[in-house]
Amino acid sequence: MRVLLVGGGGREHALALGLADDPSVEAVIAAPGNPGIAAVAELRDVAAADPGAVAALAVEVQADLVVIGPEAPLVAGVADAVRAKGIAVFGPSAEAARLEGSKTFAKEIMTAAGVPTARAYTCTDAESTAKALDDFGAPYVVKNDGLAAGKGVVVTDDRDAALAHARDCGRVVIEEYLDGPEVSLFVVTDGEAAVPLLPAQDFKRIGDGDTGPNTGGMGAYAPLPWAPAGLVDEVMADVVHPTLTELRRRGTPFAGLLYVGLALTAAGPRVIEFNARFGDPETQVVLALLETPLAGLLHAAATGTLAAHPPLRWRDGAAVTVVVAAEGYPASPRTGDVITGADRAGIIHAGTRRGADGALLSAGGRVLCGTATGPDLAAARDAAYALVSGVELAGSQHRTDIAAAAVDGRITVPAGG
Ligand code: AMP
Repeated sequence: MRVLLVGGGGREHALALGLADDPSVEAVIAAPGNPGIAAVAELRDVAAADPGAVAALAVEVQADLVVIGPEAPLVAGVADAVRAKGIAVFGPSAEAARLEGSKTFAKEIMTAAGVPTARAYTCTDAESTAKALDDFGAPYVVKNDGLAAGKGVVVTDDRDAALAHARDCGRVVIEEYLDGPEVSLFVVTDGEAAVPLLPAQDFKRIGDGDTGPNTGGMGAYAPLPWAPAGLVDEVMADVVHPTLTELRRRGTPFAGLLYVGLALTAAGPRVIEFNARFGDPETQVVLALLETPLAGLLHAAATGTLAAHPPLRWRDGAAVTVVVAAEGYPASPRTGDVITGADRAGIIHAGTRRGADGALLSAGGRVLCGTATGPDLAAARDAAYALVSGVELAGSQHRTDIAAAAVDGRITVPAGG
C-alpha cells in the first residue's frame, strides 16, 4: 500500500513511524512532513489545507490511502476532495469535521444524541456573556467557537479575564466547569463500527502543577492506571455510538478518528470536547503501544470494513511523551534556534526545519518531544525525561511533572466518575 500522510507536526511524525512500520506499506509520502518524518517517508510540498492540491498530489503519487493528520485540512474539505478521486481517505468529511470546527455544532449533536456534557450557552455580546458567566459562577470556562489549535479556551476564576477573552473571540461558548481528572479517548471509526484505542491523558497547561496558560499540549501518557474498570465500554455506549448514530441520521456520517475529551466528574464521565483527528501529543504515546499494524487499521476505517478488522493488540507496559517547547511559548514562541541532540530514536519532531547548512532549527512553539515506553509508567517516564535531557535548544521549556501524579498514585476519580 502507498500512503500519503498530510501534515507536518508531532502527531504526523508518530503516524509516519506507525505507517512505515506496517509490513503492508510499500511507501509513505508525507506532505509537507518535517525533518523527523524525512527519515521514514518521502517529503512533498503541499498546501495541506487546499483540497484541490492534496487531491491532485494523492493522484500523482498513486496513493492507496490518504491519512489526514491536522484539523484545518479536514474542516476545509480535503477528505471530501480526495474521496471524490476514488481514493480511500482516513479523515472525516468537512460536514462531519464540524464536530471539532464548531463548539456550538458539537453541543447541538450532543444534545440531540443525549450525550453527557457540560451545560453551555453560545454568546456573541457582552450582555449575554455576563449573564452566562454569572449563571454558572466561577471557575469560568470560555471557549472560542471556531478552530483555535487547542488554545481558544480560557478557564479562570477572574471574571474580567473571562469577559475579555469573550470580547477577543467574538462568538464564544460559555459552559459550566467540569471537575475531575481528564481522559482522552481515541476512537477509530468507519461511521458505524467503532474501535477504541487506549485511553491517555495529556497536560494542557504550560507550567508544572497545571499552572499558566493553555497550550496545544505539553506531554502525555498511556495507559491510565487509575481509570475505572469499564470506563471505555461506558464511553463507547453513552458517548461514541450515540454521536455516530446522530451523525448518520443527519446524512453526515463521521469516518476517521473521533477524539473524545472527557472529565470524570462526580456525576459520571462528561464530554469536554470532540476533535475530528488524532490528538497531539497523546498520539505519540498511544501509537507507541499499538502492536496492530496501523495502515491496515486506518485503511479498514477508510473503506467501511472496520467491523471485519481483527481485535487490536497492545504492547505491555506504558508510554510517556514530554514536549520541549520554544522560549516564549505559548504567547510568542521564538523560532530559528539551533537544536542539537535530536537525532535519536524516540525524539518526535513537531516544529523543526533544516537550515540551509543542514542544521536542525526550531520552527514552531512545540518543537519536539521525547517519547519512550517502559515496563511500567515510572520506567517510561524516566526514559522520556532521559531523552529530553539530551536535547539542547536555547531558552526551551518543558514540564517536569508529566505522568508524575499517576506514577505517585495521586489521581483520584470522584465517586460516580
Ligand atoms: P478544549 O479545547 O475544549 O479541550 O479545552 C481545553 C482545556 O480546557 C481542556 O483540556 C480542559 O482542561 C479545559 N476545559 C475545557 N472545558 C472545560 C470545562 N467545561 N470544565 C473544566 N475544564 C475545561
